[in-house]
Amino acid sequence: MLHTRDLIPTPIWNYQSIEFFEDLELWEGLDLANSFKYLTEVSFTDHIDIYTDASKNENGVGAAFVVPSKSIVQKFKLDGNLTVFDAEVIALTKAANFASLSFTLGANVRICSDSKSAISALKSFYWSKKPAPETVLCHTSLQEVVNMGIHLTLQWIPGHMGIPGNEQADVAAKDATISGEETSSAVTPSIVYAISSIIQKLKHESFINNQAKSSNWFVTKKQKQFFEKELYSKISRQQGKILFRLRSEHVGTNSYLARFYNENPKCSYCDQVETVNHLLLQCPVTDRHRQKLHDLMCANKLKDYHDLLGSSAAIDENVTVISAIVEFLHKISRDKSL
Ligand SMILES: [Zn+2]
Repeated sequence: MLHTRDLIPTPIWNYQSIEFFEDLELWEGLDLANSFKYLTEVSFTDHIDIYTDASKNENGVGAAFVVPSKSIVQKFKLDGNLTVFDAEVIALTKAANFASLSFTLGANVRICSDSKSAISALKSFYWSKKPAPETVLCHTSLQEVVNMGIHLTLQWIPGHMGIPGNEQADVAAKDATISGEETSSAVTPSIVYAISSIIQKLKHESFINNQAKSSNWFVTKKQKQFFEKELYSKISRQQGKILFRLRSEHVGTNSYLARFYNENPKCSYCDQVETVNHLLLQCPVTDRHRQKLHDLMCANKLKDYHDLLGSSAAIDENVTVISAIVEFLHKISRDKSL
C-alpha cells in the first residue's frame, strides 16, 4: 500500500534524463515495422528491450510486459473499470519497476509501447493541467530507473505490424484479462490529492528556482559523468539511491516534505528544522551515532555536508564515506524513509 509520504517529489530539473521517442522516423523504402527493426540494429543493439501492452475486453482489463531476450512474461489483471489508457500506463509502470529491480548501473534499457497517448502523457505530464494519477506514479517509477544509473529510453512502436516483441506483449495482455496476477491500483483518493498539490508546488518552484539547486555538485559535465559512473559502480543500489536523494536535497526530510504536505518541518527529535545538514551532521540527539562520520570528515578534510556527499577526494574515500552515511542513517532508523 502506497502512502502519501512515500511520494518524494522529484523536481522538473531531474526529469531530463529519460529519452522519449513519441514517433518513429520512416527510413527510405521501409515500412514502420522495418524502420523500427533498422533503428534497433543501428542504435539499440546494446539495449535490453521491454515491450508493454494493455487490453480491455469482455473478460476485463489486463496489462503485461515481456522481455524477449530474457524470456520473461508478466501479466496483470486490473480493475475492470480502468480505461485502456490507464492500463497502458500501468503496463509501463510495471516494466519500469521490473527494470529498477533487475538491472544495474550502466545498463541500457528501452521500453517499447504502442500507446502514443501514454508516452505523450508521460513526456508532458508536468505541463498538463490535470495529469492522470497513474501517469504521475508511472513517471515516478521511470525516474527511479534513471536514479539507479540506468540509461532509459521510452519508445513508441506501431501496434499490429508484426514486430515480434509487440505481438508477444499483445498476446500476454489479452491473456492477462483472464489469467493475470490480480493487481489493484496504487492510486487512492489521498494519493490523487497529494499528487495534484505536489505538482502545483513543483511548478511554482521551477519558475522561481530554475536549475541552480541540484547542479552545484560538479564543475563540468564531463567530470560529473566520470565521477558518477566510477562512484555509483562501487556502491550498492540502495546506497546510490540514498546518495542521489541526499545530494539533490529532494529527500524525505521533514523540511522537504513539509513543503508538499501539511506537516511539521521540524526534526522529530529536537526543536530545529530537519534539513539534510541537520539530519547528517547537526541533530544533537543522534550525535552519539555520529563518531565515525566525524572521524572520516577529519581524516579527509571534509568541511561540511556538501563535502561529505561527494568531495573531490578519491573515489575510494567517497565510497567509505557513503557507506558510513548509510550506516549512520540505519542506526537512527532513517535509511528506509529517505
Ligand atoms: Zn534534531
